[in-house]
Amino acid sequence: MDECVFCKIVAGELPADICYRDEELIAFPDINPLAPIHLLIIPRKHIPSLIDLSESESSLVGDMAGIANQLAKGEGIAETGYRLVINCGRQGGQGVSHLHMHLLGGRQLSSALG
Ligand code: AMP
Ligand code: ZN
Repeated sequence: MDECVFCKIVAGELPADICYRDEELIAFPDINPLAPIHLLIIPRKHIPSLIDLSESESSLVGDMAGIANQLAKGEGIAETGYRLVINCGRQGGQGVSHLHMHLLGGRQLSSALG
């Protein structure tokens, strides 16, 4: 946890242009954007991955999606469309072990998922 990049962003120990914050979630731009709009929505709490989410915490993912929708509207991509992605585990392509949701939009995204 001490070495977790996203925990450091939550703690203000690493810079990020935080575009949303509340008691449970924050959002900021991905450092390596794959689309004109590429934001990450993360819980403040260190939850390593989607699979580690307890039953009592499952509403967090709905809250993350709700904030992603709100951010998409703010970014002006609600009409054109966007993609929400949660990578889980090694074969799921997860690189940072702190639960996060990608919000991608602003260009035509590939229909390929794998
Ligand atoms: P994933 O591959 O789903 O684990 O996505 C992790 C994402 O975090 C990648 O798209 C990285 O570009 C992004 N990332 C890693 N470090 C930072 C950072 N310090 N600030 C913003 N985004 C980051
Ligand atoms: Zn963390």
